[in-house]
Amino acid sequence: DPRLARISSAIRVIPNFPKPGIMFQDITTLLLDTKAFKDTIDLFVERYRDENISVVAGVEARGFIFGPPIALAIGAKFVPMRKPNKLPGEVISEEYSLEYGTDKIEMHVGAVQPGERALVIDDLIATGGTLCAAVNLLERVGVHVAECACVIELPELKVGA
Ligand code: IMP
Repeated sequence: DPRLARISSAIRVIPNFPKPGIMFQDITTLLLDTKAFKDTIDLFVERYRDENISVVAGVEARGFIFGPPIALAIGAKFVPMRKPNKLPGEVISEEYSLEYGTDKIEMHVGAVQPGERALVIDDLIATGGTLCAAVNLLERVGVHVAECACVIELPELKVGA
């Protein structure tokens, strides 16, 4: 698809952020390019609009940027999957391993119903740990995850899912 090259070139790479040796993929420059940003959303919408998806779950923080416009366009609700202790209501949480230590994501109880079909959105997949945690959390409450989708895949890292 010719749109992919434009999207790719709109993403800025910042070396040594947030730590030495990391090549940070910065999607904020994609958001400045109105055509590339629209193409990004359109590509997801074209793929998912006829998939009977009722929930778009976005992973904090950049899943909150790409998830809502996709949800609106396909007629699904948007559910934020947040870092710990951010959501005010009763939550269900899922712990996952990082390179050093663990992290957690949380979702409001009652945001989704058993039997719903979900799409999980984040900006980037590296090891897949974050998306796996999101899938596990949704599956624990009886939601079927149709697919996970990201803007960027780091090809040098194998997905463990
Ligand atoms: P994973 O769990 O190893 O797949 O890492 C993916 C998570 O790390 C996502 O939530 C990303 O937003 C974040 N992440 C890792 N590297 C980058 C990067 O270079 N740019 C933006 N986000 C990143």
